[in-house]
Amino acid sequence: MSELLSMEEYREIAAGLTLPGEAFIDGAFRPALSGRTFGTVNPATGAPLTEIAACAAEDVDLAVAAARASFDDGRWSRLHPAERKDALLRLASLLEEHARELAVMESIDSGKTILDCETVDVPETISVIRWHAELIDKIYDQVSPASDSHIAMVVREPVGVVGLVLPWNFPLLMLAWKIGPALAAGCSVVLKPAGETTLTALRVAELAAEAGIPAGVLNVVPGSGSEVGRPIGLHPGIDMVSFTGSTATGRRFLHYSADSNIKDIVLELGGKNPCVVLDDAEDLDAVAEHVVNGAFWNMGENCSAASRLIVQRGIRDRLLERVEAAAAQWRVGDPLDPAVRVGALVSETHFEKVGGYLDLANDETVILGGGIPAEGFVEPTIVETAHGSRLATEEIFGPILSVITVDTFEEAIAVANDTEYGLAASIFSANGKRALRGARMLRAGTVTVNSFGEGDITTPFGGYKQSGFGGRDNSTHAHDQYTQLKTIWLDLD
Ligand code: NAP
Ligand code: MG
Repeated sequence: MSELLSMEEYREIAAGLTLPGEAFIDGAFRPALSGRTFGTVNPATGAPLTEIAACAAEDVDLAVAAARASFDDGRWSRLHPAERKDALLRLASLLEEHARELAVMESIDSGKTILDCETVDVPETISVIRWHAELIDKIYDQVSPASDSHIAMVVREPVGVVGLVLPWNFPLLMLAWKIGPALAAGCSVVLKPAGETTLTALRVAELAAEAGIPAGVLNVVPGSGSEVGRPIGLHPGIDMVSFTGSTATGRRFLHYSADSNIKDIVLELGGKNPCVVLDDAEDLDAVAEHVVNGAFWNMGENCSAASRLIVQRGIRDRLLERVEAAAAQWRVGDPLDPAVRVGALVSETHFEKVGGYLDLANDETVILGGGIPAEGFVEPTIVETAHGSRLATEEIFGPILSVITVDTFEEAIAVANDTEYGLAASIFSANGKRALRGARMLRAGTVTVNSFGEGDITTPFGGYKQSGFGGRDNSTHAHDQYTQLKTIWLDLD
């Protein structure tokens, strides 16, 4: 990454950006067939940014037809894997060339801090695309242990036309998690970004065309969940959907599939992730940094946010003192100020939702924060609450950390697991055996020990229970989503 700039320099770049607004279908930008548009705003200022094509079912039809044609004629799906790799590596290089522009675009569209966009979202997006590109010409298929008079091959083929439906909290990174393996596998894509955060997806589609990814292979159809997401879910020409977002919407995709062509569905959903700190945890300053990062990073708009701190009584006061001090360092303010750690919530609607939880917090024991520094912004807030309260049960998706005090290891694990979600969990203990026993007992797709995190591109990411369905993102396992197995049986007699 190049050096961070000053807020004034970022503002200047933001003012000079050319913002995309049309759908990207069959290799070209085009307005919605209806001609309708919707406005997108900068949530940090409320200022309108641009108008975006408000697509609907007929635009999805067009995109699916383009994707299907590109898939069936093999212009991408039947290229040598090394050629797909080269095109994706060219895309990664173009993303790198335009990294700063993408970081600023992402920040003004979503309220995310420029610090995170520059140091996490954009560089990780690039490395994820590279990783899947590099993988694709190194995967072998199988020959089964059949008898001497048979040869049976188990080959992996791209699943076909895939629908990718994205959330607004990591617009570029979630796009990369899905288009990386989907395109590498040879699928053609119809992608719907979240309504609040459409800009960078459109820009990536344009850069993908410049990188040589053929027309029709990557289509981006902006619009609302009901007008674009639903037709994608129900479309008979789409073979599989990979979705990231809320559990409620994910559930709809299972219905869409059942009501249409039984397309494969992969869901990455919400979380109410526990961070368990046992009374023998060491280096409490470091633990506090992990707790704060887990709870407040990306304004808590993170499906794997560690939003429940479950702490054993013996260590509670010493830990909370440090957590409070560490959280107080997180500056709230203009996302384009590189010193700011907490930017704006993504939209007015979401700000109001989180504000409702802030009211609930203010009825309980607030340890830190609890305020609204400006319209659209919420202070990092720490609240002491009981297990089972709404604050400790519902996914808030904002910077509010619930603290629950427990007496024993067994109680800590039971409280941590008493949730309908199971995306991520952390456990802190200096006793390796206890920590690992806890890690095995926690019902979550990712458990981090003595740290908060999500693993990296080399490890699968997805949820237990109502946090996920049907597959995993990241790692070689992501490829399973976008391929299907075929048996080719040869009789040698
Ligand atoms: P969301 O409301 O479920 O939206 C996700 C996507 O689905 C958006 O593109 C949305 O379109 C679309 N959509 C909405 N209603 C739809 C419908 N009826 N039919 C088809 N598509 C529809 O979630 P969000 O508010 O964007 O994101 C926050 C949620 O996502 C949180 O619950 C969070 O935990 C979860 N999340 C999970 C992960 C993970 O990896 N597990 C990652 C990030 C976020 P619009 O933009 O038009 O609403
Ligand atoms: Mg926006």
